[in-house]
Amino acid sequence: MNAGDEQVFAEQRESFGRISGLIDEAESIVICAHTNPDGDALGSGLALGQLIRQHWEGKRVTNLLADDDVVPRLYRFLPGADSFVRASEYEGDPDLFIVVDLSVTPRLNNARAVLERSRHVAVMDHHPSNAPFGDVFLVRPDAAASGVIVAEFGLFLGAHITPDIANCLFCAIVTDTGRFQYQNADSEAFECASMLVDAGASPSMISLNVYQSFRLAYLHLESVVMGRIVTFDHGRISYSYATAADLERTGALPDECDGLIDVVRSVEGTEVALFLKELPDGSVRGNLRSKGEHDISGVARSLGGGGHKAAAGFTSTTGIDATLATVLPQLQAVLASSDAGTAG
Ligand code: 5GP
Ligand code: MN
Repeated sequence: MNAGDEQVFAEQRESFGRISGLIDEAESIVICAHTNPDGDALGSGLALGQLIRQHWEGKRVTNLLADDDVVPRLYRFLPGADSFVRASEYEGDPDLFIVVDLSVTPRLNNARAVLERSRHVAVMDHHPSNAPFGDVFLVRPDAAASGVIVAEFGLFLGAHITPDIANCLFCAIVTDTGRFQYQNADSEAFECASMLVDAGASPSMISLNVYQSFRLAYLHLESVVMGRIVTFDHGRISYSYATAADLERTGALPDECDGLIDVVRSVEGTEVALFLKELPDGSVRGNLRSKGEHDISGVARSLGGGGHKAAAGFTSTTGIDATLATVLPQLQAVLASSDAGTAG
């Protein structure tokens, strides 16, 4: 641990203390993560709910979904996944709203209205953000996953980490680190994972559900996307896409497509990768990834999205061709400016 880490952990302990104080005083608590929730959003939210319920008996804790959707198929195995309430159907005025895996309010979608009716707000997240909000804003872009922060909150409380909590948090960390393979897979993530396995998490059960239970329809779509990968800029940029017609023809569902960007990024020599998915309403979801030091978050932000340096996303309404025409030159510019920086 270096001096910088110590400062980060001291600040985190201070925030944990304040969040704990807000929980002490609250009777009704809601927890919500971002729209289109992924493994970290769902796993860290469920784990936090279970931690609070068992460490503070008698609190009314509700896990909300930001969208009017069901939990994505791959994550329905998570303990507690059937307990989510859609934010649009939640009528209470909670004493405390805890935002996890999110630090910009528009991505709360329908839960924004609940946030506005809440007495207090706390944020626990790892996305870079320059617009703090709420009573406690604990945002650590250096943390591999929100699940890491929630696991450390459990340790801070001295709470009993049950096997269910451990499985939710392990899922959060394994998915956000791309199975401990991305640049964010640091020793803190491994330490948390080790602690969670000791607490009863089952990596093989989680892998079986998240990585080895694809429907054939999805795998057929994956083969279409794989067959369409294009590289350019001397192989340094890769992209591919799936149209709404591809989804319809194969029978794959939009919420099954999270792993397709990993197929695109797996090309040898690729430094930045782009995957576009056209939804039935014609809008296009973009996933951007950087395998090296390049920062692609600015490209996502310029399209109204956001995310981290190495993993970011956006939504566009201009269709696949026009989106490619906008994004690809920006990716080339990112590579060119990094090259210039290295040369200089
Ligand atoms: P993904 O490509 O897996 O959807 O997202 C990669 C990362 O970027 C995730 O951490 C996600 O939360 C963030 N992200 C994705 N889309 C958006 C967006 O539209 N706005 C913001 N602010 N962040 C996003
Ligand atoms: Mn996350």
